[in-house]
Amino acid sequence: MDSIHQKILIITAPSGAGKTSITHYLMKVFPVLMFSVSAATRKRRENETDGVDYHFIPEEEFKHKIQQKEFAEWEMVYEGKYYGTLKSELKRIWALHKVPVLDIDVKGALHIRQQYPENVLSIFVQPPSVEALKERLMGRGTETTESLNARINKATYELSFHDHFDRVVVNDSLEKACREAEQMVREFLNN
Ligand code: 5GP
Repeated sequence: MDSIHQKILIITAPSGAGKTSITHYLMKVFPVLMFSVSAATRKRRENETDGVDYHFIPEEEFKHKIQQKEFAEWEMVYEGKYYGTLKSELKRIWALHKVPVLDIDVKGALHIRQQYPENVLSIFVQPPSVEALKERLMGRGTETTESLNARINKATYELSFHDHFDRVVVNDSLEKACREAEQMVREFLNN
């Protein structure tokens, strides 16, 4: 039981690659997994709940937490928008004998891997193509043209990082990707 304490599961991908669907699937299959609620400075979307999807905090508070070294990692994921994994969130989840699941961007995932090299499984979810990614983001309907373009540019760059992670799942079929990820996580949790 002790070893499970310090485990971390990272699901990372270019934005819009479908990692959130895979994360939700994995949490249903493995009750030991618990979503790590990040802090973020962007506006809450209508379908989101503060404290559940994110801890939505003002930029000033976020910067104070950076100074206080309260983050395991943080990134300005989009221009002027900060996101970060709180150390206190990881500790809270470990104290419940659960394994935190981090749904975070590529750079943040690389930082967590550097800091916790032993007990991390990082899965990179790769969209079949940039075109498919664009369609998925547009279908979500939550983006303005400007934020859509920013996300596509960032995603194209992030695609080149796939070989920095433990495992890659190509999301051409969500069902298949979920099953592949499930097998990877099963092995990780059993070790
Ligand atoms: P969204 O604004 O669509 O909720 O998320 C934007 C991006 O930020 C996603 O790729 C998401 O995975 C990433 N993200 C969410 N929380 C964190 C975090 O704590 N740290 C980092 N580095 N990225 C995060």
